[in-house]
Amino acid sequence: MNELKVFNPATGDLLATLSMDSKEMIETKLKAGHDAFRTWRNTSVYERAALIDRWADLIIEQKDVVAKIMTEENGKPLRESLGEVLNAVSYLTWYAEEAKRIYGRTIPANTNNKRIMVTRQGIGLVAAITPWNFPAAMMTRKAGPALAAGCTFIVKPAEDTPLTMIKLVELAHEAGIPKDVIQCVVGVGSEVGPVFTSSNYVRKITFTGSTPVGKRLISEGANTVKHMSMELGGHAPFIICEDADIDFVITQAIASKFRNAGQTCICANRFIVHKNVLAEFTEKFTAAAKALKLGNGMDPTTDVGPLINKKGFDKVVEQIEDAKAKGASVLVGGTSFEDKEKKTYFVSPTVLGDVTLDMQIMSEETFGPVAPIIAYDDLDTALEIANGTPFGLAAYYFTNDYKRGIYLQDHLNFGIIGWNDGLPTTAQAPFGGFKESGLGREGGIEGIEPYLETKYLSIGNL
Ligand code: ADP
Repeated sequence: MNELKVFNPATGDLLATLSMDSKEMIETKLKAGHDAFRTWRNTSVYERAALIDRWADLIIEQKDVVAKIMTEENGKPLRESLGEVLNAVSYLTWYAEEAKRIYGRTIPANTNNKRIMVTRQGIGLVAAITPWNFPAAMMTRKAGPALAAGCTFIVKPAEDTPLTMIKLVELAHEAGIPKDVIQCVVGVGSEVGPVFTSSNYVRKITFTGSTPVGKRLISEGANTVKHMSMELGGHAPFIICEDADIDFVITQAIASKFRNAGQTCICANRFIVHKNVLAEFTEKFTAAAKALKLGNGMDPTTDVGPLINKKGFDKVVEQIEDAKAKGASVLVGGTSFEDKEKKTYFVSPTVLGDVTLDMQIMSEETFGPVAPIIAYDDLDTALEIANGTPFGLAAYYFTNDYKRGIYLQDHLNFGIIGWNDGLPTTAQAPFGGFKESGLGREGGIEGIEPYLETKYLSIGNL
């Protein structure tokens, strides 16, 4: 039987050896999930909400255990893992409430001997594929609305971080959610993906990960016309206007850029700074980045942990080297530490000045603790740079001028906008991207829609 080994990215220690599900085992689970839908969909929303709430309570009771597992397998500082556990729970509690607001409607008919009704019902078995950067929250914001809507759920966590998810699914079962209603598959994405996309039991694929894999899933799922929700890559611009409060901007810029070592799809990726505040921003931001401590996330003084794996590390190093070769100056950081024996990969918080648009870092998602700064002198140029990407996930801008703020909101082609806010993600708001950043939204009232089918009933001969 194939094994999946899980390592601590900060130390290289082996954390667990898991046996992977074979194709036949996955197919058995898919059938079980499909069969369980028949009973789960007929539970009352109040029953489902109570079970989801109970699951949330159990995660809270075990939040320190879950956070430790997460830091060990993902590398993020322990306080960030704890923050993620609470964020993950907030999706469950939000959707336990939202379950009670799955409304239908009645529509006036053309003639009086007819009635028209519209009802909503769970779509069926949902298969989720999740990434390693938020091992808990990326699952609960799919599982919460799916279970609330009456769908059954099967999830394949990322190969690097399956342990958090396995623990969460165990807690779901402990809370009383039936075993076949929420299931976990351990395996390699490129092998599990086609089993999910080709299965007639699966009605919907929900995915968070890279844009190339998302495109692949969309095309593979076309054969069985599956519903698709896609949270894909980003390349967030962070625009700083000439009137912005730079000290406040620094707090937001540091949080947005260096959280999770820069490995989030909504991380600030391109700092686009008005020339009048360029010197002040650059100096203060560089000093703040320099003060960040690189290390093992289990050490409470660590601000920035390791990168998840060699593939991620190589991409970040390549972007730094490319920028340097094209004339960028390294204002702080730029140092990478690869321990070939332990297989650990760190990059120190890095700020790049003298950046130009031809550098890879200005067109490719970075997923690392590297901040390129580029100057602008009129707002339309800033907008052109910001929008000049196939991505459209998150964008940030900082101004206290309301006309400028509304102008930017009107013209930025992004699904999530932070105006004087570097951390906009929250359970009650719709998260998702324009263009190649994805399809659909997670969070908010929008986040349950993709798990519901619409059924129209026409009653005649009255
Ligand atoms: P990253 O490059 O950041 O790891 P991926 O998009 O490759 O991002 O990974 C996100 C998730 O997608 C992981 O769970 C991974 O196993 C899964 N995955 C990778 N390749 C495929 C594929 N061909 N089909 C389905 N899932 C995949």
